Amino acid sequence: KNPVHVIGAGLAGSESAWQLASAGIPVILHEMRPVRGTDAHQTDKCAELVCSNSFRSDDAENNAVGLLHEEMRRAGSLILSCADRHKLPAGGALAVDRDGFAAAVTERLAAHPLVTLAREEVTGLPPADWDNVIIATGPLTSPSLAEAILKLTGEQALSFFDAIAPIVHKDSIDLEKAWFQSRYDKVGPEGDGADYINCPLDKPQYLAFIEAILAGEKTEFKEWEGTPYFEGCLPIEIMAARGPNTLRFGPMKPIGLFDPKEQRRPYAVVQLRQDNALGTLYNMVGFQTKLKYAEQVRIFRMIPGLEHAEFARLGGLHRNTFINSPRLLDTSLRLKAEPRLRFAGQVTGVEGYVESAAIGLLAGRFAAAERLGRAVTPPPPTTALGALIGHITGSADAKHFQPMNVNFGLFPEIDPPEGLTKALLREWKAGRKPRLSARALGDLAGWLESA
Ligand code: FAD
Repeated sequence: KNPVHVIGAGLAGSESAWQLASAGIPVILHEMRPVRGTDAHQTDKCAELVCSNSFRSDDAENNAVGLLHEEMRRAGSLILSCADRHKLPAGGALAVDRDGFAAAVTERLAAHPLVTLAREEVTGLPPADWDNVIIATGPLTSPSLAEAILKLTGEQALSFFDAIAPIVHKDSIDLEKAWFQSRYDKVGPEGDGADYINCPLDKPQYLAFIEAILAGEKTEFKEWEGTPYFEGCLPIEIMAARGPNTLRFGPMKPIGLFDPKEQRRPYAVVQLRQDNALGTLYNMVGFQTKLKYAEQVRIFRMIPGLEHAEFARLGGLHRNTFINSPRLLDTSLRLKAEPRLRFAGQVTGVEGYVESAAIGLLAGRFAAAERLGRAVTPPPPTTALGALIGHITGSADAKHFQPMNVNFGLFPEIDPPEGLTKALLREWKAGRKPRLSARALGDLAGWLESA
């Protein structure tokens, strides 16, 4: 069989190569390190962890990333197998000995008879005779390849920095205080004039909020990241530093909005916009920030209506090369405009080691199925793997696409049985996550069997 070419031996590419080889397909895994380095990697090992040594929670019952671990284990993941073998004590988290982990991934790949590790940079679009390619070059994709992808996909479709506004689980927003309304009741193509959730602030609340933003602890940019501020998406703390009214004339402007409970125009508002097709997640419009995560939770819970907000992800701003997957990719991660090219890992707009490896796992399985002439079937949307890929290839809003972690807000809900009393409904809601997890693992088994 012709080999499949995988570009980048990071978390995603290593997993793709393993899945392909496990399916009996020869793979050439192209990795530019150590011939050419990146600003974050320090070794020539495959799947090097560039920062934290944690794969986050390993609780498959109550945490979506823990569930993703378990699904990946069941799907024969190399990354999870090496992580489990090099696990360190870390409470409920899966933390690893980073050197042992990366060495194990590298050795397992090098020892596989179907994997060839080519230490070279792919400097442009892959040659035409590579008919089945996975691009898994990560957030620090080398400039020449990024340039080629940019040319192929167009400027609007490739980003070099993310500007992430926090995302909130809708059911944690207090709709006794917040209300649905679009500015000037404007009706969009699919909207009804009530597309946004608005949280009102009066003057003392607004001034206290600005003060908290200014005093809040911030994360610094890495030296090599520069300061990627664009006037259109400045971090809120930079706007706040320009003067007390800047945010009130920017993303927090109250014009065109009327608080039906107080029967007045609020002094300032925070608007939240639907973030996924299921309508379970809402993002805080214009709230990209470098505030530290704990500070974001503390300060954003000062906003009326968000006192008990649960965050699906927090805001950030980093150097990050990623494509507009909802627009560019089909459901099997192929570039619609050039289907021989598949994308995997962080470059598809997922965020994190585990999510990157998970998308690598799927890309590898899809590429193998294609090579074997079998049907390519994405995992069910009720699984963590399916919810994640479903988000980036379909349900995310392409116009405002920003990287995403796995979280239960991406899963279709299970409706409660009818006729429950309030107390029973509360009890039923408390079992939501274990219920979603059990359904996921059941549905995954069916998918793995059929695949
Ligand atoms: P990578 O693991 O970066 O792998 C991509 C590989 O492609 C690299 O080995 C690179 O050398 C190679 N490559 C690039 N261009 C080419 C080319 N043209 N030809 C051949 N090879 C090429 N996530 C977390 O969960 N926790 C963290 O603590 C964390 N910290 C991060 C810190 C930084 C500085 C950055 C940039 C990201 C961080 N991330 C973190 C986000 C992300 O999860 C990791 O970057 C993750 O490694 C992404 O996996 P990947 O396989 O997509 O990319």
